[in-house]
Amino acid sequence: MIKLKSSKETPLKGCNCGNKLNHWKKFTGMQVRMCLVPGCRNPEIDGGYVVKTKTDPIADAGLDLQSRPLDSTIYLIPLCEEHATTLEEFEVADDTNFVSTILKETCGRNDAVEVKEGEL
Ligand SMILES: [Zn+2]
Ligand SMILES: [Zn+2]
Repeated sequence: MIKLKSSKETPLKGCNCGNKLNHWKKFTGMQVRMCLVPGCRNPEIDGGYVVKTKTDPIADAGLDLQSRPLDSTIYLIPLCEEHATTLEEFEVADDTNFVSTILKETCGRNDAVEVKEGEL
């Protein structure tokens, strides 16, 4: 399982995919019908911003309960409103498709319109 926290930042400015969920669909080539959090299955979803977290070894010893961001990248995945806004850490399956919110890696790329099947 991959541990996540929702991100308060909203980095997808200038995205031309219509909405956040379309951005995810466009760059995964996948359809989704429910929140990706196992056991949630809420069908009312939108794109949710998340960061991957790791638990510090010190935190496991009970000295520091803060888990820290694994990296600074903010990803987009389909989530229900509850999971897109929760302050709690949650987990998704290892095979979850994360889409970068860095526009120059996705829809802000000059050649994004001409991406062919199988190139992603
Ligand atoms: Zn986009
Ligand atoms: Zn959910």
